Amino acid sequence: MKNNNLKGQGSSTSNSLKEQAERSPLPKTMQAMVMEAAGQPLVCKTMPIPVPNEEQVLVRIIACGVCRTDLHIMDSELPKPKLPLIPGHEIIGTIAQVGSKVTSLQIGDLIGIPWLGYTCGHCKYCLRDQENLCENALFTGYTIDGGYAEYTVAFQKYCFHLSPQYGHPAAAPLLCAGLIGYRSYQMINSAAKRIGFYGFGAAAHILIQIARSQGKEIYAFTRDGDLQAQAFATRMGAVWAGGSTEAPPVTLDAAIIFAAVGELIPKALADIDKGCPVICGGIHMSDIPSFPYKLLWEERSIRSVANLTRKDGDDFFALIAKIEVKTETRLFPLRQANEALAATRNGGLNGAAVLVM
Ligand SMILES: [Zn+2]
Ligand SMILES: [Zn+2]
Repeated sequence: MKNNNLKGQGSSTSNSLKEQAERSPLPKTMQAMVMEAAGQPLVCKTMPIPVPNEEQVLVRIIACGVCRTDLHIMDSELPKPKLPLIPGHEIIGTIAQVGSKVTSLQIGDLIGIPWLGYTCGHCKYCLRDQENLCENALFTGYTIDGGYAEYTVAFQKYCFHLSPQYGHPAAAPLLCAGLIGYRSYQMINSAAKRIGFYGFGAAAHILIQIARSQGKEIYAFTRDGDLQAQAFATRMGAVWAGGSTEAPPVTLDAAIIFAAVGELIPKALADIDKGCPVICGGIHMSDIPSFPYKLLWEERSIRSVANLTRKDGDDFFALIAKIEVKTETRLFPLRQANEALAATRNGGLNGAAVLVM
């Protein structure tokens, strides 16, 4: 099932969401898809509804996007997840209960819950405005339970208010694919005109809409021979699309790598102009092969993007309120989380898989 044109899809107004939330009594239990051990399929379980602490809210989940990071967690490429774990960090839902110290959210509010679930506020990274690197951070669907479930709890300060048109499952990928793509894009000099996207999936198809609205030219690189993904990129407005081993028709001002493929780093360095950056948007990548220094010479740079800050989210959701962002999603019922993960792993999804509760 495809969903286009995010704006206007959410038929619920915030008032009707509020009324709905206040009317419906809370059940005692919920369904959740649980990771019990790495490398094994998720298991469908009936569990008690989680109880929010004084700084948390209980959220009735509308939908949760499936992100490649979920696969990295399940494949043990990210160490030490909470176990058993409810994965998922692209959550949209409504507030069903609030803790005693919650002041910024009310029952019925439409919110999004991202990867960054908590920061300490006092480590050296928090104190220098790099809360994305917090030493004591908690991450949704990794070190705390996430959104592959009917309910979850979240700390009030790490939820984003969403405007009513985003109260639809198609909005879920905005919470990670959208946010991390945006943070990667913010790393580029604003004068950059010709930007390469390496990997054209969930993040790229959102970010291209923001970049095009700012007059950028996007050059899309996909797996060699993946004509379907190249056609998708062209349809989304890329001025050129080709295989990742192909040379672009022009020298690029910046490269953003979304695919988890280390070989793309020297390739992207070869594609960009002097003084320009290669930004790595993924949380995990295969090893980077050695390459001649001349590819990096002349102040080319390689930079990774880790997590997000709350400011990224505030800026991003303010920006997309003004741009008509469309997402392409394939919806799966919660119980088909393993199928949704397999589809994400195997490629061939244009856009993103989303679990609907
Ligand atoms: Zn993610
Ligand atoms: Zn901290």
